[in-house]
Amino acid sequence: MPELPEVETIRRSLEPCLTGRQITGLQIRHPGILLPAAEAFAAILPGLRILALQRRGKYLILELSEDWCLVFHLRMTGKLLWTEDPQSPVPPHTHLIFQFENEAQLRFNDVRRFGRCWLVRREEMERISGLAALGPEPIRSDFTAEILKEKLRHKKNSKIKCALLDQTVVSGLGNIYVDEALFEAGIHPLRTAGSLSPEEIHALAEAARHVLQQSIRRGGTSLRNYVDGLDRQGENQYHLQVFRREGEPCPVCGTPIRRMKIAGRSSFFCPRCQIAHPPC
Ligand SMILES: [Zn+2]
Repeated sequence: MPELPEVETIRRSLEPCLTGRQITGLQIRHPGILLPAAEAFAAILPGLRILALQRRGKYLILELSEDWCLVFHLRMTGKLLWTEDPQSPVPPHTHLIFQFENEAQLRFNDVRRFGRCWLVRREEMERISGLAALGPEPIRSDFTAEILKEKLRHKKNSKIKCALLDQTVVSGLGNIYVDEALFEAGIHPLRTAGSLSPEEIHALAEAARHVLQQSIRRGGTSLRNYVDGLDRQGENQYHLQVFRREGEPCPVCGTPIRRMKIAGRSSFFCPRCQIAHPPC
């Protein structure tokens, strides 16, 4: 699933292509991904202009003229692909095509069909329930250990791995970057959030920011089908320290990386570097 660095990379790749463009038409091939119904999209969108591209957590937000917004969540396999060649073959599983001047297109493609696209008034964006409840942005400079500590206070008995996957605690983290951040902070994924010392929470906030920013610099992690808005793969998959590296030596101590299911998700960690018990 695209996490914060992948959605941010998509945003950055599409920003110069889309900003200022006028939507001239829309092809809806699978209306099930649209909220509200397809008729509203067809009636409202043509003629509107894209003013800016924003991101919040894993949501991509296209701010449009007349105070409308298009909001995308790519879920498992959603892709947004820009093309200036309308003759280029439309890939299978393309459910939505936005058309622009000079026949340019933005195509929404999603094999698994879990992705969603909302059309909302700017002031009603908070009605998208997941978006309204999002926790702080971990790559912003105002994300501090104090804020993380406060958020974790409500999750004392949760395993830290589960607490960090909760989008109301921190927005944008998913399975890859939670595992990478916990490794970098030296915290075992089964620790309860309430057992973390202030020093560990500080290290965790720093590690989360660091692993996300590094991945953005590398264009995101392309493990399955993730590509940016110009169909380019990222390179962060070549730099993962523990994620999907079961049995390989820990880059710090050489102990084989272990995998364990936590809340149904595969979790990867170093049993030596990541401390399983609260510090005395
Ligand atoms: Zn290790």
